[in-house]
Amino acid sequence: MRIHILQHPLAAHFLTHLRDGTTQPALFRLLTKRLTVLLAVEATRKLSLRPRLVQTPMEPCAGAVLDERLVAVPVLRAGLGMLDPIVEFFPDVAVGYIGLERDHATAVASSYYAKLPPNMDGRTTLLLDPMLATGGSAAQAVSTLKAAGAGRVLMLCVVAAPEGVEHLNALHPDVEIYAAGLDRELDSRKYILPGLGDFGDRLYGTEAADAASDQNAARPGEAAHGL
Ligand code: URA
Repeated sequence: MRIHILQHPLAAHFLTHLRDGTTQPALFRLLTKRLTVLLAVEATRKLSLRPRLVQTPMEPCAGAVLDERLVAVPVLRAGLGMLDPIVEFFPDVAVGYIGLERDHATAVASSYYAKLPPNMDGRTTLLLDPMLATGGSAAQAVSTLKAAGAGRVLMLCVVAAPEGVEHLNALHPDVEIYAAGLDRELDSRKYILPGLGDFGDRLYGTEAADAASDQNAARPGEAAHGL
């Protein structure tokens, strides 16, 4: 199974708070962004550089600047939670969108939208989809990216299940997967265990109301303190 798992203590810290069922959407969004920063740093280690000579206040200095124009493609809607830090770190990034909807009965994803940058030829593409569960939608998204001409595809997810990693490895062995956590398994509804529930619902506060977790929930401002 080919996957890179973040090994940084901050990743464990953020992921644990993200998993916590009492974490409210405002904090959930913040933690998602912070984890995405760590994932992006790890996934982009091999980006090309070109030399750049700059003049410091002291003397000339031989430096280097990024020499690749990335493409980022969040899978709607949960992947949107990962987009902001990518755009901040890589201001020249071209952004596309892929919409995949999961049938709750069969867990099979179907595509309802794809809008990709016109010139993807050979460009390194970051595919943003926080939950790699069965791998069906990830594999479908990668096929769409490759058909549009994408070069190296780096998949950034928050939590992966072994089933999803194996499926994506089998169909697209060239795709490198980066995750903050590799979980145990999928349940009968193809949700990840232990996982964190429905990522999109938790990100956007569209979960069915749960009195117990509402009661235990820290207010976003309090919970964010110290994170
Ligand atoms: N998508 C989610 O949001 N959660 C899972 O556990 C699996 C897929």
